[in-house]
Amino acid sequence: MQHLLDITHEQLTAWLKERGYPAYRAAQIRKWLFQSRVETFEEMSDLPKALRSELASAFTLWTSKIATHSVAHDGTEKLLLELADGGRIECVLLRDGERRSICISSQVGCAMGCVFCASGLDGVDRNLTTGEMIEEMLRLARLLPAEERLSHIVVMGMGEPLANLDRLLPALDAATREDGLGISHRRITISTVGLPPQIDKLIDRDTRFHLAVSLHAPNDELRNRLVPVNKNIGIAPIIAAADRYFDQSGRRLTFEYVLLGGLNDARQHAEQLAALLRGRTALLNVIPYNPVAGLPYQTPSAAAIRQFREILERAGINVQFRERKGDEINAACGQLRRSTPVVALEVPS
Ligand code: SAH
Repeated sequence: MQHLLDITHEQLTAWLKERGYPAYRAAQIRKWLFQSRVETFEEMSDLPKALRSELASAFTLWTSKIATHSVAHDGTEKLLLELADGGRIECVLLRDGERRSICISSQVGCAMGCVFCASGLDGVDRNLTTGEMIEEMLRLARLLPAEERLSHIVVMGMGEPLANLDRLLPALDAATREDGLGISHRRITISTVGLPPQIDKLIDRDTRFHLAVSLHAPNDELRNRLVPVNKNIGIAPIIAAADRYFDQSGRRLTFEYVLLGGLNDARQHAEQLAALLRGRTALLNVIPYNPVAGLPYQTPSAAAIRQFREILERAGINVQFRERKGDEINAACGQLRRSTPVVALEVPS
């Protein structure tokens, strides 16, 4: 059986046409998928009964099961989804004022091996399908009360999104379409470890999204240690590719920097970073390390954070410190993994 969320609008229209149904049935089906909360074809009450049963015998609507649903006191919610083949991924809903953001995964595990991140601890199993990524979005959207809509998407969960671009872009298409989730491109951020050929591919395909580049170190010697794939890439080509994206898109770039106590948080790191980013239309997003069970890294001291911020601000860099959210349920940045070893609060699903 095919996953209905994994086929395009055009494929669905063609499937309907072969069976003698008019094209507007596809629009009706999309409406049920993206703007309602039905769980089965049977509930799609404006479709002819025969069509409902034909759909049910050709397609599955959901391929994943919610294995765990965790809720934190700050309003963050995390789903651990079990996929059809037993693979497990996590995705997160974040509440911040009026914002309703979701953080989705793009792969089962991650191959990048960043030493401070939980997602790559066991390597990568496979890419997620388009349908599985849309399913993350819909599952999270349905956690909101009926009158609330998702406003932002960050592709910052498990995996390297640019290594799965061919499946990611159709999923983001469903997110942005008026008859999909209706989220504007500029409210969607794709976060990458920095793969220059893939950044160029994105430039060719679509430059309407925000691009975030995970830098984490201001020089190659240190970055090679923290982000092992850097050994084959290097900071300069990554920044050059990011600049090309900016030239084409006009969208302010974001650079992310996980601040690790005693490792990349010293005065000279801040100064090097300022020199590296000076003159760019960019936002530096500094994320104090969120603890990962089993890893030896330290959250930086308040004094180190203050010094780091001051040096960058004085150098005229647009810097923002990311507020920690969802750490109570291991849903904060870098804490997503295939299993949830410690869960603070569990809501049975
Ligand atoms: N592979 C992509 C998407 C994964 S999200 C990428 O590398 O960008 C990666 C982001 O998670 C990093 O930029 C960082 O902001 C965050 N991160 C990873 N581990 C973290 C940790 N232990 N503490 C805080 N942030 C972390």
